Amino acid sequence: MSVQPRRPSDPGPPRMSTLSVHAGEAREKPAHAITDPILCASTFTFANTQAVIDYVVEKQERGEYGRYGTPTEMTVERKLAALEGGGDAILYSTGMAAIVGLLMAKLNSGDEVVFFDECYHRSREFCVKHLSRFGVVTRQVKVCDYDAMAAAINENTRLLISESPTNPHLSVVDLERFAAIGRQYAVETLIDATLATPYNVRPLAYGVDYVLHSATKYLGGHNDLLAGVIIGDRERLEPVRKLRGIMGAINSAHNIYLLERGLKTFELRMRRHNENGMAVAEFLASHPRVERVFYPGLPSHAYHEIASRTMRGFGGLITFQVRDADWRATAAIVDRVRVARIAPSLGGVESLIEQPLVMSYFEVSPEDRRRFGIHDNMIRFSCGIENAEDLIADLKQAIEGR
Ligand SMILES: *Cc1c(COP(=O)(O)O)cnc(C)c1O
Repeated sequence: MSVQPRRPSDPGPPRMSTLSVHAGEAREKPAHAITDPILCASTFTFANTQAVIDYVVEKQERGEYGRYGTPTEMTVERKLAALEGGGDAILYSTGMAAIVGLLMAKLNSGDEVVFFDECYHRSREFCVKHLSRFGVVTRQVKVCDYDAMAAAINENTRLLISESPTNPHLSVVDLERFAAIGRQYAVETLIDATLATPYNVRPLAYGVDYVLHSATKYLGGHNDLLAGVIIGDRERLEPVRKLRGIMGAINSAHNIYLLERGLKTFELRMRRHNENGMAVAEFLASHPRVERVFYPGLPSHAYHEIASRTMRGFGGLITFQVRDADWRATAAIVDRVRVARIAPSLGGVESLIEQPLVMSYFEVSPEDRRRFGIHDNMIRFSCGIENAEDLIADLKQAIEGR
């Protein structure tokens, strides 16, 4: 008996919520369970020597030793590749492990990378402090300055890197232009699309070579796991997968299960994050005590036009500056909030609030903070999936309170 559903005439390719529920999964699972098991196995057995030889020679997709990947992990990788529209996805234990894994696999001593300068501070730190120890040169140019990026490319350049939207300024990259520069100079391109997710934008469709996500954020979505993923062409990713098997930055069985579970509701959550983000951003933009709001969905945002053209929604992350407030007055607002919790991270069901100065840049020099655009009166708010009116009422009392 066929387990395939009856198809109406030409249903076309499955849409996102169907993919997030079903893609990558076997129709029939162990014990006829509807869910994949939490597969606790460090190693996988072979019936006999011939089975080992067949596995090696035929490159069969099955478990061998846990560090090279488990069947449940392969399932989630197929699901993520389908959501992003890529040939292959490689999971890591964190987003940072994914970035480090890709860069270590792709770069040699003497190679150069070019970065847009607004980025996750640990990515910058890895390139500037650590890749340099292996002779890799990092060049940073102003965010979305495509001419400066092209000018920074030379014969040693191997990779162009950006986030989109960027953290915490929410600048949005013109992916078509970014990918075109890569093609023009035969340099590979990487977009960290953690803040966008494949619901809001799919960089591979614009010709970008690699997409990276901290799955800790929206993909996992419940503030209960850390994971990272790189998605792109299977052949290009082969050396990256091989290095991961050596690095060992893999996920536990329980972690993989949580990620697969979280992904089931991915589209539902993203719709709510987008709605809440827009509602909260509009409220903040209308408040007299708010000096400036960074949110791509607002017409006042520097990148609103490109965001409207390329993104389906603008996500749940909002950064804003409080009018006439020093860092203490700003901190007092953060401390008065009652729904959102004070914590780093973003993209989970619980709203989170933080003051970038205190949370991530307290020990960075004032000159560098100025250079990175981190102001004392900045607050970063990650909308969860709570009721938008509750989030707004709470922010209102926090901003107006004394
Ligand atoms: C959180 C984050 C990372 C790092 O991911 P981890 O899972 O915390 O290692 C990288 N890039 C962006 C944009 C992030 O928000």
